[in-house]
Amino acid sequence: MQRELVWLNKQRFQGWGCSECAWVFNPSGAPIGESLNEMKENYERRRDKDFATHVCTEHPRAKNTIG
Ligand SMILES: [Zn+2]
Repeated sequence: MQRELVWLNKQRFQGWGCSECAWVFNPSGAPIGESLNEMKENYERRRDKDFATHVCTEHPRAKNTIG
């Protein structure tokens, strides 16, 4: 299955997550950059990189996903 970066709009969480597992993007600290554009680019770069490197099996959605 092809995983995708999806926008999650839930009661407890709004942000980017994975379509195939429970992974969500958690930016630590304030966005870095000298302008709003730069901050946005850094944010997106970090998000895309985090998404690309996460392992879906390490973020199971339900208890019985592994095994
Ligand atoms: Zn995933």
